[in-house]
Amino acid sequence: MSQSDCIFCKIIRGEIPCAQLYADDHVISFMDIGPVKRGHALVVPREHHATVFDMPAELGAHVMGAAQRVGRAIMAATGAEGLNIFQNNFAAAGQVVFHVHWHLIPRFSDDGLELWSQGQYGSMDEMLALAEAIRERMD
Ligand code: 5GP
Ligand code: ZN
Repeated sequence: MSQSDCIFCKIIRGEIPCAQLYADDHVISFMDIGPVKRGHALVVPREHHATVFDMPAELGAHVMGAAQRVGRAIMAATGAEGLNIFQNNFAAAGQVVFHVHWHLIPRFSDDGLELWSQGQYGSMDEMLALAEAIRERMD
């Protein structure tokens, strides 16, 4: 499955260049062109699926395998002390490219990057009620 107008499908088909780090039958990995930190890379399933909710869960095992190998190499090459692995689903969560992908971002303890600020629930009951609502909707 691929999409003619998808930027990552074009990279996967070799129609536009990338700084490739890894490739196998299921996933490829390449440097992010707009790095949050130097060494920021992406792990991308070859099949076109818009978000994590569209892809077969089994593909996740291949993604994780590649993320482990590439992530270790990024840490070794950059001297990073840590590595964030995350991904965005839908525009409200910051997704810009609608071909599911994982970000690998090398981190240093003093790098000043604040990824999110945490809040708190008004009460324990509020949190428990929301947990119940989520459990009820699990398919
Ligand atoms: P998203 O916000 O969708 O999770 O992340 C998309 C990522 O893709 C961004 O970090 C952006 O810098 C990266 N990106 C977008 N276009 C290209 C491209 O043509 N080449 C590469 N290597 N990265 C890209
Ligand atoms: Zn695509």
